[in-house]
Amino acid sequence: MSMELDDALAQLTMNNIIAICKDKEFSRSQKRKRSDLLDAVHHSADLHPLVLEAAHEKSINRIEAVSKQSAQPLSTHEKTLPSSSLHLSMLDHALKQLTVQEILTAAGTSKFSRLERQNRSGLIDAIRRSAELQAVMISSAENKIKQTREEEEKVLKRSCLQHKPESADESVFLEEVNSSVVCVVCAGEFCESETTDIPLHNIRNKEVLKPYQSHPRQNLVDGMLLYDQAVENKDDSQYGRLCRSCLDEVNANKTPVLALANNLWVGDVPDELAMLTLPECILVALSYPAAYIVKLYPKK
Ligand SMILES: [Zn+2]
Repeated sequence: MSMELDDALAQLTMNNIIAICKDKEFSRSQKRKRSDLLDAVHHSADLHPLVLEAAHEKSINRIEAVSKQSAQPLSTHEKTLPSSSLHLSMLDHALKQLTVQEILTAAGTSKFSRLERQNRSGLIDAIRRSAELQAVMISSAENKIKQTREEEEKVLKRSCLQHKPESADESVFLEEVNSSVVCVVCAGEFCESETTDIPLHNIRNKEVLKPYQSHPRQNLVDGMLLYDQAVENKDDSQYGRLCRSCLDEVNANKTPVLALANNLWVGDVPDELAMLTLPECILVALSYPAAYIVKLYPKK
């Protein structure tokens, strides 16, 4: 622990150390003299995890910053054996991120002798002798960190999507939204009172809801292209709600402008797209409407 702690302390400034150990009262001399400050940290075992974590975080930030500044990939821009303390510190932390298997996969087993492959320290010694391997390790660790962060973001996003309402206001709002119903013709959301629930076989002029373009994934009901998730089975019959506008147009023997059958059907939306935020949707969309109406709900 002592060597690991010394390594960690060497990466932190006095201000860093005082900031991360904010609950510890340092004396005036400890705040002024680095050796006194380090002695104080050494004698307080409860501060050790904080120091190790802060140094680890700082080194990750350095790896990311250096790789961002580099115009070329790290694996190609270093031809000579780098020896700066920053580089060695980056390398140490990169190696800590990687398992033996990951080191071998990143470099290729042919880069190491049989003796070096026998244990982790053999591999690390070989890496320390090769600028090329050092660059590969730093780059692999950086990719691993990036992938881990992306995974964490995905999990966070999913949990945000599935979160339960926390405040009374939000809960009231969501109740209102949850009580809305979907029109089977245009798949729009409406208040229940704005729609009419009718047996689908009673819809008049079914031919106006015939799909403009057919697709093998479409499930037609009596030849009509409807939003099947809003179709309900009751008393051996299929029922669906139609909004006023769709019902009026169908009764007038016209295809409603916003009907799925009017070439607006896109099929099931995959999870990867369903979880996107509005700005993300706009970024990936091939085309998009000129305006969106976004309803905001009260927050705490
Ligand atoms: Zn409708």
